[in-house]
Amino acid sequence: MSITANDIQRKSWLEVPSNSDFPIQNIPFGVFLTKENIVTVGTRIGDFAIDLGALQQLNYFEGIELTDDMFMQDTLNDFISDGQKTWRLVRNRIADIFDEINPKLQGNAEDRDIVIFKMEDVEMQLPVLIGDYTDFYSSKEHATNVGKMFRDPENALLPNWLHIPVGYHGRSSTIVPSGISVHRPMGQMLPNGETTPVFGPSRSVDFELETAFITTDVNIMGENILVTEAEDYIFGMVLLNDWSARDIQKWEYVPLGPFLAKSFASSISPWIVTMDALEPFRTKGPKQEPTPLPYLQQKGKHSFDINLEVAIQPENAEATVISNSNFKYMYWTMSQQLAHHTSNGCRVNSGDMMGSGTISGPTPDSFGSMLELTWGGKNPVQLKDGTERKFINDNDTVIMKGHCQNGHVRIGFGEVSSKLLPPFVRK
Ligand code: CA
Repeated sequence: MSITANDIQRKSWLEVPSNSDFPIQNIPFGVFLTKENIVTVGTRIGDFAIDLGALQQLNYFEGIELTDDMFMQDTLNDFISDGQKTWRLVRNRIADIFDEINPKLQGNAEDRDIVIFKMEDVEMQLPVLIGDYTDFYSSKEHATNVGKMFRDPENALLPNWLHIPVGYHGRSSTIVPSGISVHRPMGQMLPNGETTPVFGPSRSVDFELETAFITTDVNIMGENILVTEAEDYIFGMVLLNDWSARDIQKWEYVPLGPFLAKSFASSISPWIVTMDALEPFRTKGPKQEPTPLPYLQQKGKHSFDINLEVAIQPENAEATVISNSNFKYMYWTMSQQLAHHTSNGCRVNSGDMMGSGTISGPTPDSFGSMLELTWGGKNPVQLKDGTERKFINDNDTVIMKGHCQNGHVRIGFGEVSSKLLPPFVRK
């Protein structure tokens, strides 16, 4: 089925500001709450949120086989579970409804009032009920930087890294949408030069610049999927700030990997940008040397050219962009990650989320964490308000943005923005 929604000639009858992340060619999916306290599945064009539940009730999806309450839900899980054919039919139809050449909804003021909201009048929710969250570690530059700092500069990459998309199972219970503040975590750590650990607020709260992909139902327990088919099971992507407490992490991670240093919060952008919308931005990833084992081998373009940036905004001050990176730097692709994940028969369900791992580029201004940008706190980052940061201060807001751009169209994610609050205090 062709992806007619991507037609670059299309213009919407809804106003789209120039440089918007959400032209009619994007059509992401999310869940929002209206002022009338109604939760619905929706999409976005320009600065308008569109109620897909209302569109369905008004019969605008006629001819597409959908369950009656497909969009009148507080998550996208059922829709995602329906599979790629349904995603494409619905996205193509939405593009038709909002195309300037189509008078049907455009000319019906009563329906427009029911279906269309201003973004400022809705509150974005988590788009999916995330059953399982896995985080990978797939940027060679990031793994090399961390290995140099924490282990051995001569052998920064561990022997498995070039053969396995290394990952760990995270917590889905503390994944929150953009706009939700996060408390500085308490935890156990070993102060430098000491032999006895202490318990207290983390002193090195960091962000990790990541993307994440959301899957449909991939397999049943015991079965694997092929790397060549894995992309069909990926619904779309979001931006992910995988908050990390470096001092807690350093003490706890041996031998089983991150635990409480990561599970206190992970923030995501609320609109899932579909892989179909990202299709024009396919690109080749870095050459994989040595050649991976056969179950991970793939040919062609399986990475995506997504520009990413991170800014820190102190309270009552201007934001400073501190990093510019790109998803295309990732060594392991999403399809390799998913094929590897199911290679032992592990079940992956609709709404599961897989983090890319920190996305660091080759240059120091493209590193995806404070740990790397400041090289372990040695070179503080300067902000526009004259202050400097080794890690994130209380009441700082961390803002991540991402977008793709070619000569014809810009497809973006909006942002994931979240404020770090002081530690929670029991009353
Ligand atoms: Ca991470």
